Amino acid sequence: MYDNVADQAALGPWERYEAVARSVRDVLSQRWVLTEKTYERENPKRVYYLSMEFLIGRSLSNNILNLLLDPAIERAAADKDLDWLAVLEQEPDAGLGNGGLGRLAACFIDSMATMQLPAMGYGLRYEYGIFKQTIQDGWQVEQPDNWLRRPDPWEIARPGETVEVQLGCSFEVRGGSLGVVVGRPSSLLGIPYDRPVVGYGGKTVNTLRLWAAAAPDYFDFRAFSAGEFVSALAERLTAESLTRVLYPDDSTSMGQGLRFVQEYFLVACSLADLVRRFRRHDSDWTALPAKVAIQLNDTHPSLAVPELMRILLDEAQLGWDQAWGLTRQTLAYTNHTLLPEALEKWPLPWFALLLPRHLEIILEINRRLVDEVRTRFPGDDGRVERVALIEEGSERRIRMANLAIVGTHSTNGVASIHSELLRTVTVKDLTETFPERFSNKTNGVTPRRWLLLANPHLAHSITRAIGDGWITDLDELARLRPLADDKGFGDAVSAAKREAKTQFANWLKLTSGVTVDPDTIFDCQIKRIHEYKRQLLNALRVVVLYDRLRQNPDLEMAPRTFFFAGKAAPAYHLAKIIIKFLNSLAGTIDGDPAVRGRLKVVFLPEYCVSLAERLIPATDVSNQISTAGYEASGTSNMKFMMNGALTIGTRDGATIEMAEAAGEENFFMFGLTAEQVAGSRSWYSPQWHYDNEPETRAALDLIFSDHFSRYEPGIFEPLRQTLLTGGDNYMHLADLTAYLEADRRLLELYADPMGWARKVILNVAGSGRFSSDRTIGEYAAEIWDVKPCPVP
Ligand SMILES: *Cc1c(COP(=O)(O)O)cnc(C)c1O
Repeated sequence: MYDNVADQAALGPWERYEAVARSVRDVLSQRWVLTEKTYERENPKRVYYLSMEFLIGRSLSNNILNLLLDPAIERAAADKDLDWLAVLEQEPDAGLGNGGLGRLAACFIDSMATMQLPAMGYGLRYEYGIFKQTIQDGWQVEQPDNWLRRPDPWEIARPGETVEVQLGCSFEVRGGSLGVVVGRPSSLLGIPYDRPVVGYGGKTVNTLRLWAAAAPDYFDFRAFSAGEFVSALAERLTAESLTRVLYPDDSTSMGQGLRFVQEYFLVACSLADLVRRFRRHDSDWTALPAKVAIQLNDTHPSLAVPELMRILLDEAQLGWDQAWGLTRQTLAYTNHTLLPEALEKWPLPWFALLLPRHLEIILEINRRLVDEVRTRFPGDDGRVERVALIEEGSERRIRMANLAIVGTHSTNGVASIHSELLRTVTVKDLTETFPERFSNKTNGVTPRRWLLLANPHLAHSITRAIGDGWITDLDELARLRPLADDKGFGDAVSAAKREAKTQFANWLKLTSGVTVDPDTIFDCQIKRIHEYKRQLLNALRVVVLYDRLRQNPDLEMAPRTFFFAGKAAPAYHLAKIIIKFLNSLAGTIDGDPAVRGRLKVVFLPEYCVSLAERLIPATDVSNQISTAGYEASGTSNMKFMMNGALTIGTRDGATIEMAEAAGEENFFMFGLTAEQVAGSRSWYSPQWHYDNEPETRAALDLIFSDHFSRYEPGIFEPLRQTLLTGGDNYMHLADLTAYLEADRRLLELYADPMGWARKVILNVAGSGRFSSDRTIGEYAAEIWDVKPCPVP
């Protein structure tokens, strides 16, 4: 294979990539087959992770690393003078997700394979992933992500394992538009495309199975009249468009019909597939929870509750109570957000049309639930109304979160504060009804991709200091603690950071022409653009610092580069204005000789997994500044921490636990707590801050005076509305001065390189808990009850 790799040097870059990828796939395919064979033989309890999103990124370098092939490949590449980095660059990111939720799914399947758990991921094979972002005149422009334009060497179609999905209605084209034909059932095919998931060390190779939709092939075309022929083809077109595109909304439910069908399609295909596998080994349906654990990544796949009930009632012919017990014991649900706009509620008429049997089942679940709650809490009609699966109103809707909590044995949040708020605020009544179902599983990220692969210099320094056990046991990093004051290790860590910054600066120059100086502080905020994540608060900080330098050119201030990156949902207008503002800020500061060389803002377009892998190792300062109580967990916060960035952040999500792990004194925490945010809602006045804080007022006045929009006056008026006159829902102004104060402390430390390195080491040493291996260990022990099934 190594010859094969190097012999490709004469070919074009894509052909070389494809050849290397195919060689690597050949190497792993034996293990892949053997893994499934082992599971078939041992028949262990298996985990199925159902997720509408898997934000995988690139696979080649990750698979090489996990197969421990990197030294051999590097040698072969060097021998034949192969431009290895150019080969890696050929691979498109598999962007089948929006942000944190999809990336979590990708980290989880890596951890499950590394921990040798018999696990499988189920998702959809979107032909178009998350859109490509370009910036034109400072505005976000979306372009389709045709990532499968060229054949993907990592996927294998398995048409032999196709499943059929039944729908309660049909679709046909009438007069050029798509209509629903009520009461005429139809069906769809789900074709599985398998991708290998290589565990570290290459022992276990699990499968990520993605479904593509197709129309069934059993039409007898000769039997159709001309009109029917056209509508039959149209039906085929409809079927295939179902998995065409990923919905680009993050932490928001857009409530569109096609998305509803996508969600059902994922559930129906995956359950049909896993039930078929289960039945090959076990004829006794009651063994289901002993052999199968299904984790629902948010409510998106929560139709699994009525779908599994349908299978057990109608296909297995079990009675209600038995079917219900098995369903609940098999399913578990992860909640990802408390934002009201993210809670899925599907119109009841859609169920009636598309999934009439499922509606029947949901209504029966609801009837029994309401009976139980009435009995246990007599006279408490408010409670009954709140726990019910159906939201009454002019349009009745099914509350998918309630369905998921009621229909599973486990509901977990993704960070301690999030799980607590979920229990005590968001679904308080359901928690009081089923307290034993709720738990916390703080998120994590895979240290293989996010440290070993992304940051080879730091990884190497760590391995030299404590050995390489940390790669699969990240708690080992705690052994770096005694080295906090070790000059040699501190220098190695600083040198690794410096190297990553230089590499990033070179890459940026080469690919975009933008120059950044590695001798400045790299200060980053990269994540989806959302009001609650408060990129605007960061922008206000930059405006204040900029204004200080304008007012006082002799001011001493370490030179800094502020990086922003992130996509806005295409329909989220304010988020798009925030992107425009960040670009205007960057342009104005670049054009102002008063601050040249001291302050720079860069908006990096097309935030994706590969960009994160480049920028995070190069970062000095990580901004995690959501309004407290709004960020469920965050995971980029963890990636930054293990890569030796210091965090400036609010007490929100997993950042709270990170500060605990590293010691609060090694974090730069500021701002209102979630409790304070909730408690000051009724009297909070952004205007007060404008009237009483000179720097806040000066910053806002600078924005409203069109200083950053000289040639487009008035375009940032919506910012006045959101920050001032509209009540500042996310409390930017309430936290701005505290943010600046934390920033001042941070700069003070930066002036002391030894002190800085010390805190960096203590942060890395404290990041062990935030490996997704730890998270998966908790799911396996406390929710799934699955054990490793090693492949011989
Ligand atoms: C880690 C990651 C995220 C999640 O970032 P948060 O800051 O936790 O929201 C989103 N997108 C990509 C590409 C990531 O790698």
